[in-house]
Amino acid sequence: MGRGWGLLIGLLGAVWLLSSGHGGQQSSETAAQRCFCQVSGYLDDCTCDVETIDRFNNYRLFPRLQKLLESDYFRYYKVNLKRPCPFWNDISQCGRRDCAVKPCQSDEVPDGIKSASYKYSEEANNLLEECEQAERLGAVDESLSEETQKAVLQWTKHDDSSDNFCEADDIQSPDAEYVDLLLNPERYTGYKGPDAWKIWNVIYEENCFKPQTIKRPLNPLASGQENTFYSWLEGLCVEKRAFYRLISGLHASINVHLSARYLLQDTWLEKKWGHNITEFQQRFDGILTEGEGPRRLKNLYFLYLIELRALSKVLPFFERPDFQLFTGNKIQDAENKMLLLEILHEIKSFPLHFDENSFFAGDKKEAHKLKEDFRLHFRNISRIMDCVGCFKCRLWGKLQTQGLGTALKILFSEKLIANMPESGPSYEFHLTRQEIVSLFNAFGRISTSVKELENFRNLLQNIH
Ligand code: FAD
Repeated sequence: MGRGWGLLIGLLGAVWLLSSGHGGQQSSETAAQRCFCQVSGYLDDCTCDVETIDRFNNYRLFPRLQKLLESDYFRYYKVNLKRPCPFWNDISQCGRRDCAVKPCQSDEVPDGIKSASYKYSEEANNLLEECEQAERLGAVDESLSEETQKAVLQWTKHDDSSDNFCEADDIQSPDAEYVDLLLNPERYTGYKGPDAWKIWNVIYEENCFKPQTIKRPLNPLASGQENTFYSWLEGLCVEKRAFYRLISGLHASINVHLSARYLLQDTWLEKKWGHNITEFQQRFDGILTEGEGPRRLKNLYFLYLIELRALSKVLPFFERPDFQLFTGNKIQDAENKMLLLEILHEIKSFPLHFDENSFFAGDKKEAHKLKEDFRLHFRNISRIMDCVGCFKCRLWGKLQTQGLGTALKILFSEKLIANMPESGPSYEFHLTRQEIVSLFNAFGRISTSVKELENFRNLLQNIH
C-alpha cells in the first residue's frame, strides 16, 4: 500500500515536472546546466573552485593514477567479505550475478605480495618476520637489537592504535581472500531499494553528528522531510559539517560510478556497460532532486580535496629510500615507485589545497574530543560495510571507507610524519600495505568520478 502510494505520487510528480516544463528537455535551461550550473565556482568551507579541480584532475592526474592502479601492487586487495554484520541478522544476500566477486586463485597473486601482505619493503619484511617470531615466543625477544625491539612494539600496537580510523579487516583470517580489483570493477549491480536505503540511512542517522530529534526518511519517496533533515547541517561547526560532507561525497561518487558503468544491454550473447544519462539525471539534476543533486556533487569535490590533501602530506613517508612497492619484481617495483612519487609531487604542486589547519583549531580539549568522535563514528561506518547485502558493493564500500579512513589518519598525523627519520624504520608513523592500496584506490575512484562528471557534462550538452 505505502509503496503503491509512493509510486503514484512519483508518477504524478513526473507528470507535473513534464507539464510544467521542469522535466525532460522542455526546460529553458539545458540538461547539462541543470546538473552542473550550481556545481561551479568556490566550494563551501574551502578556498578552491570546481574548475581548477577539473583541469588538474582530468588532464594531469587521472591518466597517471590509472596507470599506477593497474600495477600488481595496487590491483590485488585482500579482504574478508564473510565477516558477519554486527548490527542485524536479516541481510538478504543479493543473488544477482552482478553482485558476485571473484577472488583470486592463489597462483594469480605475485608471491612477493602474498608473503608480505602487510609489509612494504624488504627491510620491513625482515623486521616483521622477527616481530612475528617474537610474538610467537610470547614477548619481545631480547636478542633482537634495541632498534628492532622498539619498532616491533610500535608496529604490533599499530592495529589498535588510536590513530586508526577504520576497524582493521582481519586479513589474517582464513576467510580473507585476495581480489583482483581490475577484474571486479565498481559498476551498476542492481543493489537498491529498502536494503540499500537501510545502509545509507544507518550511516547518516547513527554516524553524522546530528541532533537526536531529527530523523532521516528511510524511504526516499517520502519527500518533504529531506529539507528538515538537512537544515541541522547549517548550525554545525565546520568539522562536523565536514564529516557529513565526506560521507555524502562518497555516496555521490558511488552513484556516479553506477550511472557511468550501467548495464545498458543484457542478452545471452553479451553484456553492454556504459553511461546511463537518465539514471545520472534522476540522481543529480537540480530540479528533479529539488536542489540536492548539485549539492551532493559539491560534496564529492570536497571529498576529493580532503583525499588530495592527505596524499600531499604523506609524501615524506613514500620518499624514504627504503620504501618499496614490494611485489618481488625489482625492476617493476622501482618503476612503480618512480611513478608514485611523480604523482605525489604533482599533487603537492596543486595550488589550492584544502586548509586543514582550520580543523580542530579551537580549544585543545574540545579539539581532542572532536577528533576522537570523528574516529569512533568512522570506525562504526567501516563496520556497517559488513552489512551490505551485495558482495561487489561491500568490496568497494570497504575499500573506499578504509581509504578515506587512511586519509584522515594521515591528516591527523601531520606531526608524526614531519618527525619521521629519512631512512630506517619509522616508529611513530606507519602505513600497512592494505592502507596504502586502499588509500590510492579510493582516491582513484573519486578521481574517476570527477572525470566521469566531465563525460556526463558532454553527453548532456549533446542532448540539445
Ligand atoms: P540511494 O542512493 O540509495 O540514497 C537513498 C537516499 O539518500 C536518497 O533518496 C536521498 O534521499 C539520499 N541521498 C542520495 N544520495 C545522497 C548523497 N550523495 N548525499 C546525501 N544523501 C543522499 N549500487 C550499484 O549499482 N553498484 C555499487 O557498486 C554500489 N555500491 C554500494 C555501496 C554501498 C556501501 C551501498 C550502501 C550501496 C551501494 N549501491 C551500489 C547502491 C546505491 O548506492 C543506491 O543505494 C541504489 O542505487 C539505490 O539508489 P536510490 O536512488 O534509491 O537512492
